[in-house]
Amino acid sequence: MTSTPTTAAVLTPAARGAIATVSVQGAEAIALTDRFFTGLGKINVAQASVGRILVGHWQAEEEAVGEELVVAKLADDRVEIHCHGGVQASQRILKHLALVGCEIESWQARTTSEHADAIVAEALLELPQAATSQAALHLLDQANGALSREIETIGNLCQQSNFEVAQQKLEQLLALAPFGTHLTRPWSIVIAGPPNVGKSSLLNKIVGYDRAIVLDMPGTTRDVLHATTALDGWPVQFSDTAGIRVSDDTIEQAGIEKARAVLQTADLAIVMHDATDLRPDELDQSLQQLPSALHVVNKIDLAADVRVPDSREMLTTSAVTGHGVPQLITSIIAHLIPHVPNPHEPFPFTDRQVNGLQALHQQVTLRQVDQVRQTLTQLLKA
Ligand code: GDP
Repeated sequence: MTSTPTTAAVLTPAARGAIATVSVQGAEAIALTDRFFTGLGKINVAQASVGRILVGHWQAEEEAVGEELVVAKLADDRVEIHCHGGVQASQRILKHLALVGCEIESWQARTTSEHADAIVAEALLELPQAATSQAALHLLDQANGALSREIETIGNLCQQSNFEVAQQKLEQLLALAPFGTHLTRPWSIVIAGPPNVGKSSLLNKIVGYDRAIVLDMPGTTRDVLHATTALDGWPVQFSDTAGIRVSDDTIEQAGIEKARAVLQTADLAIVMHDATDLRPDELDQSLQQLPSALHVVNKIDLAADVRVPDSREMLTTSAVTGHGVPQLITSIIAHLIPHVPNPHEPFPFTDRQVNGLQALHQQVTLRQVDQVRQTLTQLLKA
């Protein structure tokens, strides 16, 4: 007798693959599997020892044909069924198991129920969404408990009334929140600038293929074009905007306003200027008005002797020859990720965690001991 039901979940993605895996868990896992499975030599799962892998036949009584598959007995209450990778095969197994009383759940629900530590469960749920292997490695550290341990340490510090160190640790974690939350959501970079300055060409050069149409007619890029790629292993999405138009003598105010609005939603703006049509006062104005943007003077191959203001934020490129593009990429990464966490370093990576840590920081600052305890519990056990 047990109060927790036996459940089945498909662990492999809902797409075509060589093999799909159905996990059955609970007191009835073996008995329910044996309702449909017969191993070679007529051995069933109940008779096999834990750790054995059985090859056999799966068939429901009412069906004319069955399927050859593999069953692994992982524990007395846990079985994995490895069947044909098509979606239909795993769904058929789930249907059979449901008919005999098994509860069907998603892999997400299974992951959450298997882990008492909410942060570890969240890391396991986020991992398949990691856009690059480098992003996955950092999430794996959190799945192995890096953030949970750090939060426990913060809890211990609070218990010892060491609020200042707890506060510092929380500030370090929160400083890494933009990094953590972007591992599954690419950093967004907007390329802005007047028509014909080379926005699409530069985007193509960085991304490495002709994602944007390049024509030498001003105003070709009518809509915002997106291209997702990885820079140095970090996921980024570029948007090439129709952008800022240049009036006869100064950048139009409306253009600046537009760039500002875009900047508010983007993580970084690259503002492009044309080396063959460079106006120093315009550049100065642009640098002053958009100080957090990266300013790039493009077409430098056509105007090698152009005088570019001596500024840390001013780069020169040629979208045709590639000159300056590696430096631009380095600069982009430095802007987006000022500090790359070391291996095993903790950081928050979901909005829930960031909100919780912000609340915790405030409570620690105000020495609200009871609330601190409550928030810590909520953070670790959802
Ligand atoms: P956009 O309107 O800002 O997207 O500009 P495009 O990328 O469409 O480029 C407009 C024209 O300038 C095209 O003919 C490009 O080949 C040319 N172009 C863009 N960048 C450079 C560059 O760095 N050097 C040279 N020589 N031509 C460029």
